[in-house]
Amino acid sequence: MFLYYVTRMKNPIKILYILSSGHSGSTLTDLILGSHSEIESGGEIDRLHDYISERPPGRGEIERVCTCKKNIKDCAYWEAVLSKIDSDKYNIGANIESEEIEVFEESNFKLIEAILEVSEKTIFCDSSKSYPRLVKFLKSNKFAVEIIHLVRDPRAVAYSVRRKGLKLNDESYNFFNALKNYKKVNSKWFSEFSGLDNYHLLKYENIVQDTEKEVKRLMQELGLNFEKDQFEFWKNEHHNIGGNRMRLQNHKSIRKDDEYLSNISFKDWYLASIKTFPQLKTFGYPILKNMA
Ligand SMILES: [Zn+2]
Repeated sequence: MFLYYVTRMKNPIKILYILSSGHSGSTLTDLILGSHSEIESGGEIDRLHDYISERPPGRGEIERVCTCKKNIKDCAYWEAVLSKIDSDKYNIGANIESEEIEVFEESNFKLIEAILEVSEKTIFCDSSKSYPRLVKFLKSNKFAVEIIHLVRDPRAVAYSVRRKGLKLNDESYNFFNALKNYKKVNSKWFSEFSGLDNYHLLKYENIVQDTEKEVKRLMQELGLNFEKDQFEFWKNEHHNIGGNRMRLQNHKSIRKDDEYLSNISFKDWYLASIKTFPQLKTFGYPILKNMA
């Protein structure tokens, strides 16, 4: 343990940061990465405040469930993590999203350090996905960040957004708005980061079609070994938060969600392919549906 502290004090904390649009498979990627013996995943850790703060009455307890399926206040792992942080001094849940860089830096460092101590791992995976949060990490020299830009076929992303909108009866979750947003953010991120040594592009489709090959490639780029447990993530214990429902289901396999292929109309497919043509080219997606 002593050695651990010495190493930690000298070195910045290594962060694998998943940057992506919603509905791109970040929960799955997070579980796969967090199944490595060196990597602990916190999930969408920027939402910690929602999980640990006092809530207004009427907000569902289900929103506070850890991937171990316990409410976060009954989860021994989170109890151990939070007990390492002086909660009177640090409003940790709120501070980890602070706009003040010193507050952001100190509170995230304390939190992630506590998570790594409890999990006895050395690398933290953050799948908050948000660009502003990534920028704050990059500005700090307390963290060494590897950017994992996760992409998925824009037509699949837009389809998932529309499906969610129909469920929620919310028109703002709209197929074409989703495409517009996808174009904007993914092009910006690619042009801003792809020239950097710490940038890694990861495709959802490759992860589900050939998990071993794709994860092996990523691990190699990160200077880590691929471990078999990574594609049997359900065998490991996880305490990440946020993300989609899949983290609470009993998955025993990794499979591609390709419902979009049979459900997008010819017209929507055609329009979506024209609108996102540059991104399809950049990220290597076919134009034709029967090739996707
Ligand atoms: Zn838990």
